[in-house]
This record gives sequence, structure tokens and C-alpha cells, in this order.
Amino acid sequence: MAMSNPIQTPPEELSGSPGEPTHELDESGLALRDTRVPAVGMARPRAHLWIDNISVAFDGFKALTDLTLTLDKGELRCIIGPNGAGKTTLMDVITGKTRPNQGAVYLVREDREQTLLTTMAEHEVAQLGIGRKFQRPTVFQGHSVFENIELSLASKRGVFHSLFSLLRAEQRDKIDEILGIVGLSQRREMRAGLLSHGEKQWLEIGMLLALDPSILLVDEPIAGMTHQETEKTAELLQGLAGKHTVVVVEHDMDFIRSIAKTVTVLHQGRVLAEGSMDKVQNDPKVIEVYLGE
Ligand code: ADP
Ligand code: MG
Repeated sequence: MAMSNPIQTPPEELSGSPGEPTHELDESGLALRDTRVPAVGMARPRAHLWIDNISVAFDGFKALTDLTLTLDKGELRCIIGPNGAGKTTLMDVITGKTRPNQGAVYLVREDREQTLLTTMAEHEVAQLGIGRKFQRPTVFQGHSVFENIELSLASKRGVFHSLFSLLRAEQRDKIDEILGIVGLSQRREMRAGLLSHGEKQWLEIGMLLALDPSILLVDEPIAGMTHQETEKTAELLQGLAGKHTVVVVEHDMDFIRSIAKTVTVLHQGRVLAEGSMDKVQNDPKVIEVYLGE
């Protein structure tokens, strides 16, 4: 990879201003909280998500150790690694489900202002535009495909907005656009429960898109999919990158090979290797712990 070691903060960045503070309402909606980032350094220029020296321990067992990882805006990043490497724990830390014992995760805006995520609750992180798709699809089986996206859209906009019929046409356009992106336009009126497993996965990605995420975290998207569905999913994820920053956790090496630009290999809670698929799959350390299995 062309990037310098992401652990090193470039010296010229160290004196950089942390930017204006971001004030947020807390859960009660009463107190104002200052989420300004202390002046400990800044992410590299094109960064969108900066995972800075994270450690997570469960009863003394270290699931993640001094993990540093920077995702650039709009990139498609694949994270691979053997079972227990810490992939899901990393997702949990990014989304606010698990608090790290050490380190920080920052969301970096276009103007390079950094928002500290690791003190926030899960719903606050989600509201900032970080969407996560779990392995099992969780669609509303009894509702149509269209209604599933509509419900997701409504959950973002709140009840108040849906009272205005003027917004309906705009909303319908948005839902149709999303159905087009995830390839379900032909299934618009079908009950979600009747979709194939792969189609349900795409519907759930569509429901995430309705929330306008800037970052999409996708955990094992092709598990249980047919070959054809896998190929469509590869196209879908590649199409989402650019507009969104996409992180894919997956075991299937052929799939990773078909979509990967930059691959990060985790092993025992650390970054074992990072770079192009070619570089990573020829790395002796990687072959030893993962590919050679
Ligand atoms: P992966 O997703 O790469 O398979 P995980 O992040 O799920 O790995 O797990 C990393 C390690 O942390 C594993 O050894 C797992 O057993 C352990 N671990 C994960 N979550 C917990 C938890 N809540 N309590 C105790 N140990 C956990
Ligand atoms: Mg996992």
C-alpha cells in the first residue's frame, strides 16, 4: 500500500487544531455535551474513520491489542482473519456496542473535524451515519419489500414528517431509487417473508441505505448465498463504495478476491498485514496463520 504506516501521525499534523467543538444533546435531550476531540493528533488527510490504538479486554483476555486502522473516504475495505481474530469486536467498538479499554475511534468529517465515537451510545453512533448490517437478515417478514424500506425511512424521519403528504412523493422516489440500487425493483410488492435468503440480505442493505449512512459495516454478507447471489452482492458492494465508505468482514477468500482493493488481516487482535489482495495473500505471515489453514 502507498500509505505510510498509519500508526505514525505525520509531524505536521500534530500541531493541527482540533477544530470547533461539536455540541450534542444527550439522551435526556437536556444537557449539552462537548464532544470536541482533544488535541492528540489528527487522522491522515483522506481519512473517514480513524481507529486509534484500540485495546479491548474481556476478563483479562485481550480481544484487540493496540489496533490502529484508518479507512479513507469512499473506500471498500475488506477485513479478514481466522475465527477469534477480533473482527466482530472491532465492529462492536466502532458502533459503540463495546467500550474499548484503551484508544479511540474518530469519525472524520469533510472539513477534517474529528468526532470522538468511543464515548457515545450505540444509537448516537448510528445517528452520525454509521450503519451496520449483521449476519442474519432482520426484515419485517409480513410487510412488502417497499414497506420495509418505508418503515426504515420513517424511523429516521420520525412520525412528524410522515404526517405531511407533500413529502410522500419524494419519499416514494427515494424508496424506488433504493430498490433499484439493491436490485429489488421487481420485488417491490412482494412480502419480505417470501424473498430468497439473498434477496432478504439485499433488502436489509436497502433498509440501511434509507438511513443515509456515510459508513456501511457489513458482517459476512454472502453467508448462505447461492453463487449468483454472491456475484450480485459483489457488484452491489462495489457500487456502494465511492458514495459510501464500506467495510466488509468476510471469510470467503474468492469473494474477497473479487471485490478487494485494500485488505486488512487481523490475527489475535492485531493487524497482521494490510495492503492489496496480492500483497496480503503472498505475505508469509498471512499464509501461515490464515490462508494455509
Ligand atoms: P471474530 O469475529 O474475528 O471471529 P471476535 O471479535 O468475535 O472474533 O472474538 C475475538 C475474541 O474475543 C474471541 O476469542 C472471543 O471468544 C472473545 N470474545 C468476544 N466477545 C467476548 C465477550 N463478550 N466476552 C468474552 N470474550 C469475548
Ligand atoms: Mg465474528
